Amino acid sequence: MSFENLNLHPLIIKAIHEAGYVEPTPIQKQAIPELISGIDIIASAQTGTGKTAAFMLPALHQLTTPSTTNSRGPRILVLTPTRELADQVSNAAKKYGKYTPRTKVISILGGMPYPLQNKLLSQPVDILVATPGRLIDHIRRGRIDFSRLQTLILDEADRMLDMGFLMDIKQIVSFLPQSRQTVLFSATLDPAIEKVAAQLLNTPKRIQIATRQTRLDHIEQRLHYVDDLTHKNRLLDHVLRDTGLKQAIVFTATKRNADIIADNLYACGHTAAALHGDMNQRERNRTLTKLRKGDLRILVATDVAARGIDISDITHVINFDLPKFAEDYVHRIGRTGRAGAAGIAVSFASSKDNIHLKRIERYTGHSIASHIIPGLEPRNKTGRHNDGIKKSNAPAYRKGKHSTSATLNKRQNANPHFMRAPKVTRSTANRSGLGK
Ligand code: AMP
Repeated sequence: MSFENLNLHPLIIKAIHEAGYVEPTPIQKQAIPELISGIDIIASAQTGTGKTAAFMLPALHQLTTPSTTNSRGPRILVLTPTRELADQVSNAAKKYGKYTPRTKVISILGGMPYPLQNKLLSQPVDILVATPGRLIDHIRRGRIDFSRLQTLILDEADRMLDMGFLMDIKQIVSFLPQSRQTVLFSATLDPAIEKVAAQLLNTPKRIQIATRQTRLDHIEQRLHYVDDLTHKNRLLDHVLRDTGLKQAIVFTATKRNADIIADNLYACGHTAAALHGDMNQRERNRTLTKLRKGDLRILVATDVAARGIDISDITHVINFDLPKFAEDYVHRIGRTGRAGAAGIAVSFASSKDNIHLKRIERYTGHSIASHIIPGLEPRNKTGRHNDGIKKSNAPAYRKGKHSTSATLNKRQNANPHFMRAPKVTRSTANRSGLGK
């Protein structure tokens, strides 16, 4: 199937071809005709599947027909969880809407000065991309007229719920026309998302395409067991010396760690910088622009960068600290291997992280092969190692190596540093994708 078969306006097709897209991705094939027909959809599609174009192309198609309502307010509203994702959506709208009329795009994001946003909102707008918190501020001040709004798109709705935006979203929706089309995209369709969909969408069609397994196929996942911080830093240095590494994102658990590691790397001669939520928007944009232009080789970031960064030269993602939630692992490593390129995702873990690793592996459906770098072997041998050679795809726990309590006790006696994995409660299991 080609884009021509999707009945999109020829000027949109022209922009798509210019972007180098030959064929629609599976989510685009399914979602675009439904959205053009005007129905609501709920779709599970993860980053890297072409989901942005899947909702943006039909939105632009709608805009090719003039609005019948006499107003200057937005006709399309896209809500995103983060500023970075909002920027990516805005850029996509501008790219695909390059040739079509009535495609003025503006972004209303937290961390940006109000006077500039007030000015933007006082002018006619077709597509408004916003993070919920800041948008609600402007709505309360009566700065936005939604009378001609046709479509509401909730992008990465699961993430918005995780970030506590549910009340803001509901409040925003209460200002929108009832007749609107509503589109919900989420990495996972769990009960919380289903509940929101039931409240905000009108008999939506469900589209479930991307399986996590197929999405990650082009990303080589590696695991290195680490003893301590010094060992981690030495391994990081080793990975960053890989001559195949063009650009990398190093993910840390805390903003402070991101700053410390970026400073250390910079001091060691790497072009490295940090990105996290404590930085103001201008600093964040400056850093991302450098990364996009290739002036920055290594970005050290918290999960603020786990979604929305789309740079094809990112060859490596390094989980200096494992993410808290399994779904964030997928988002993080999805920063590499963009648009079909190959990528490498390296994770550092201690033996304490084994239970957490299992959750990630269950969630992704992939086992992560553990590797040892000669000269950088972990002292603690409780992990699963294959010396850099894939002996088996099945993780050791699936083979029963780590599973019995007798084995656990034996190991605990033999190695006083071995820690029994913490109990997983039902709620943590659900958050991390256990049982999915
Ligand atoms: P997304 O899932 O929206 O983050 O998109 C992931 C990447 O796929 C982006 O770099 C898009 O530019 C690219 N992309 C989207 N649709 C297509 C397509 N039909 N063919 C090739 N690349 C695409």
